[in-house]
Amino acid sequence: MSSMITGKCYCGAITFYGEEEPQTVAYCHCVDCRRATGGPVAAFAAFGEGKIVFEPEEGKRVSINEGVVRTFCENCGSSLTGRYDYLPNQIYVSIGIIDQADELMPEVHAHAAERLRWLHIDDDLERSEATATRKLNAVSDNL
Ligand SMILES: [Zn+2]
Ligand SMILES: [Zn+2]
Repeated sequence: MSSMITGKCYCGAITFYGEEEPQTVAYCHCVDCRRATGGPVAAFAAFGEGKIVFEPEEGKRVSINEGVVRTFCENCGSSLTGRYDYLPNQIYVSIGIIDQADELMPEVHAHAAERLRWLHIDDDLERSEATATRKLNAVSDNL
């Protein structure tokens, strides 16, 4: 089967692919994700650890907060992935670097309490004031 998920960073130095659909897709409104991605809200597609293959490798690992490791392209700075100790065995890939992003609909708003006041996203998705860990873990438990 041909790969279902493909993508690359802004400069193209790092590419990736995967053959499984994401376990879930989530917005994150937390200030850390905004800062790391540069956008007014971040969104990520979650995959099982090891299900996404990066070439030549996954970029520079940066850990500012205990239990959170993010990766970035060392050349262009694109935000690639996040790993969170409280969401074990999952890798969260920034939605904007995925070629199929248009088909990957978010299912939850995490850290909705930190949303920028002027940002209005008109949907009926669940809003979690905090990490949405329960919902995100429930998805991975169901696999
Ligand atoms: Zn790059
Ligand atoms: Zn966040």
